[in-house]
Amino acid sequence: MAGKERLFTTQGLILKSKPFGERDRLISLLSPGRGKLTCVAPGARKTKSSLAALVEPFTYGNYLMHQGRNLYTIRQADIITFFSRLRNDLESYTFASHICQLVDDVVEDDGGQIRELFKLLYRSLLFMEKGAAPALIGLAFHFKLLKLLGYAPHLAGCLHCGREASIYYLHVEEGGIVCFNCLKSADSSSYLSQGSLALARLLLKGNWAAINHLKLNEEQYKELSFFSRVFLQRWLGVENFKAFNFLEKLNRT
Ligand SMILES: [Zn+2]
Repeated sequence: MAGKERLFTTQGLILKSKPFGERDRLISLLSPGRGKLTCVAPGARKTKSSLAALVEPFTYGNYLMHQGRNLYTIRQADIITFFSRLRNDLESYTFASHICQLVDDVVEDDGGQIRELFKLLYRSLLFMEKGAAPALIGLAFHFKLLKLLGYAPHLAGCLHCGREASIYYLHVEEGGIVCFNCLKSADSSSYLSQGSLALARLLLKGNWAAINHLKLNEEQYKELSFFSRVFLQRWLGVENFKAFNFLEKLNRT
């Protein structure tokens, strides 16, 4: 009966997929109950394979898995959501790949339950699939990921004096914003416009329905993209996220 015990079914979202040998694909799958699982999809490089379409990135489904000594093997799958828009629109594809890779970068293999993170990723992909601006959803994902992992930047007034000011600067090392009066010349800081600060507060705390209606100009996107990237790198302790390579290709960092 030992063989049977090694079979289980899990819901999962495919984070990424790469060729593995001549016939197979190696899949990174996010399971709400088990965390990130690295699995083999046997034969999935072959065009006739019934598994091939079921293990493409962003597919969400039920997966029957076998737990081997080092790797999991996908035996069967049923699709729940396919996310066709994310595959057919370059900007949506890029940002969807970026946030899936970001999850792959920060989640350990076999780490156990990650239900809130799973929900955040799924919801972000769903908004993009329904036509929300991919860059906006990508930024919202950054801020909400920081919050979920316990690294929400302090955005309610100056970190040092607590006052509301008209001009703020980022202070990545201290985890928030400081006013001009409290800014020391040696600080690793950069200016944050009032408009971008208001947007950052909404992205961090606002609900998705409100975020979906936000309008972002290119300048604000650049400020907030820089802001969230340096925070993610500093506070999650990763120097070079692979995830940002996707955005560099589209010149969207
Ligand atoms: Zn201050």
